[in-house]
Order: sequence, then structure tokens, then C-alpha cells
Amino acid sequence: MHVPLIDLKSQYAKIRNEIQQAIDDVLASQQFISGAKVHDLEQQIASLCSTQFAIACGSGTDALLLSLLALGVKEGDEVITTCYSFFSTAGTIAWLKATPVFVDIDPETFLLKTEQVHGKISNKTRAIITVDLFGQCCPVESLHGLEIPVIEDAAQAMGATRNQRSSGSLGAVGCFSFFPTKNLGAYGDGGMITTGSEEINARIRKLRTHGEGKNKYLHEMIGTNSRLDELQAAVLSVKLNYLDRWNQQRNSNAAFYREHLRDLPLELPKTESGNFHTFHQFVIKSSRRDELKSALEANVIGCAIYYPLPIPLQPCFSGLGYTSTDFPGAMEAASNSLAIPIHPELTEQQLNFVVKTIRNFFQK
Ligand SMILES: *Cc1c(COP(=O)(O)O)cnc(C)c1O
Repeated sequence: MHVPLIDLKSQYAKIRNEIQQAIDDVLASQQFISGAKVHDLEQQIASLCSTQFAIACGSGTDALLLSLLALGVKEGDEVITTCYSFFSTAGTIAWLKATPVFVDIDPETFLLKTEQVHGKISNKTRAIITVDLFGQCCPVESLHGLEIPVIEDAAQAMGATRNQRSSGSLGAVGCFSFFPTKNLGAYGDGGMITTGSEEINARIRKLRTHGEGKNKYLHEMIGTNSRLDELQAAVLSVKLNYLDRWNQQRNSNAAFYREHLRDLPLELPKTESGNFHTFHQFVIKSSRRDELKSALEANVIGCAIYYPLPIPLQPCFSGLGYTSTDFPGAMEAASNSLAIPIHPELTEQQLNFVVKTIRNFFQK
């Protein structure tokens, strides 16, 4: 039995008619940029996140870049962030010639150790980027008193909540990605920024269209071209109606794994209290990770390592002088973690097969 790590084909099969209708509407309108579908999606995401504003853009990476720019991050500034995330979280900081300052994670939740942020603050610190890694919100409460703006990288956590507050609303700015494999994925690249600040909203809207304000061809600042297409917005509006159901299904799958794997010598992912987890990934840990990965692959069960090398140890950041001893939590996660299939399209037979294969492995 084949169990892919993600299964967008069977997802598409279930929503094909609605998607085709939505795409056809856009084709009939021949309005491809900045039209009604993008506007509607922005309203829907703002409402989902309970933020006053949502601004669509070209990708999750652009969402981070535009947010950093809107907060005034520039050459020579420092931005404190997690050492364990998709590269984009820190790459965008360095792209603006600012310096990422890395903090370790709690290896049980994979989330930034917020209590270590205080010790990294300098007079150059301009922002903090937290990450809702694998689909649960980073507990940011202790950062709110610091008077340094928090950018919440919620790319993996659309629909997650923390103490009844939505992901994307926990910092000054929230960043989402619509990369096809995300919980809410487009049919190409896309991103969204959420904020409660009128000023940040206005700046980002200008930055994404070359700094143009209300008057066309009058450029008030220097920006870039980063927009979401109407076609992508149309697809996303259809899929957004399913997001709750899909996130619930991911939680049922997680509960199934917890029940059937709990007696094995492996570590199951921990959910922070107060969090509704969206399980973008279900990441287990084992000191026999590499053998387990081979056993799953031999049975055609998709699995992956997120992430094999913490960001500060990437070759491009060697100049920053970090070593593996700086990040014991992330090193443990990088050597032991393995993501197994959790997507909402999994059938009962597939779930049983994954469990059986893992149980067989440990009973050998
Ligand atoms: C996917 C992702 C991004 C980048 O999003 P893109 O749309 O691929 O540019 C940023 N941060 C995290 C944590 C992600 O998972």
C-alpha cells in the first residue's frame, strides 16, 4: 500500500467541480491581478485571523520580506529568531542585510525558547520573528513586554489558535504561505500578511506595488512587485471553506497515532497547553530515526526530515560563527525527528498500515 506524505491529487478529486467553476469565473472575467477574488480572500483571512487587515502577496517569503521592510528593518539591524525552521524565516532577514540572531528551540515542541530571547537583545535589535512550527502557535506572551515588534511566521499554521486567539494575530504582523503543500495551499505560490496596524497595512500595500500610493504612477517609496493572482485567490477561496474540516481531520489522525504508538520507544509531538494544533506536520522522534525512515520507505510510506540542519549551521551562515553546541535542542530535533503522513486525505487502511509498519519496526 502506498501512503504518500501528502496527497493533493485525492484532495483535488474531491473538490474538482468547485475549483473548475472558480477558475472559470476568473477566466470569464479576464481580470487576473488585484480584482474581486483577491479582495474577498483578504477579507476572509482577516476575519479568520480576527485582524483588522490582511494583505495578499506573492509568497510566504515575500510576506516575511515585506513585513521586515514595513517595520523598517535595514542593513546593520539585528532580528532575533529561531534556529529551527524553514530557511526562509532567517534568509529574509539576511537578504535585507540585517543580521539574524538565533535562539534555540524546546526540542519537545520544536518552538522557539522565548525565555532565551531576552538575553539576545541589543541596541540593534529591530524585530523578533517567531515561528508556529509544524502547525502550533509559538507562546509569544512573554515577548509582548519587550517593546520590540514580533513578526509571527504562521506559514505552517493557518487556522491554529492559542488561548482562543488566532495564528497571525499574536504579533504585530502575521505571515502566511499558500505554497501548495501548506494546510491551505494554492495551485502555485502565494502569501498573506495580517496585521491590526493601519500604518503597517498602508506601508505593505505600497511596498507590494512599487511604493505606489493612491495616485497611479506616483511612487512614495521603493517597493517591489509581489501580488497574489486572481486565479490563486479563486482556488484559495474554495479551499478555505474546507480548512476547518481538514484541520480537524489532521487532529483525528494525530489522535489515532497517539493511541496506537504511545507504548513504543519513540517520542510523540507535544502540544503546548492552550493551543489548537493544525498538524501541518506530525513529527515523531527516535534515536533510531534513520533506520525507521528506511523501514517506512521500504514499505512505500512517505516520510521526511524537517529539518536536517539547523539554519545557523547552514553553509551560507558560516560567517556568523555559530556551532552545534550553541543549539542542543535543535541538534536533538535534527538528528531524531521524522515527519510521518498526517494529511486529511489519509484513509483508515493507510493509517493502520503506517501504525503496523512502525510497530513491526520496533518489535524486531
Ligand atoms: C513555507 C514556509 C515559508 C515560506 O513560504 P513560501 O511561500 O514557500 O515562500 C516561510 N516560513 C515557514 C515556516 C514555512 O514553512
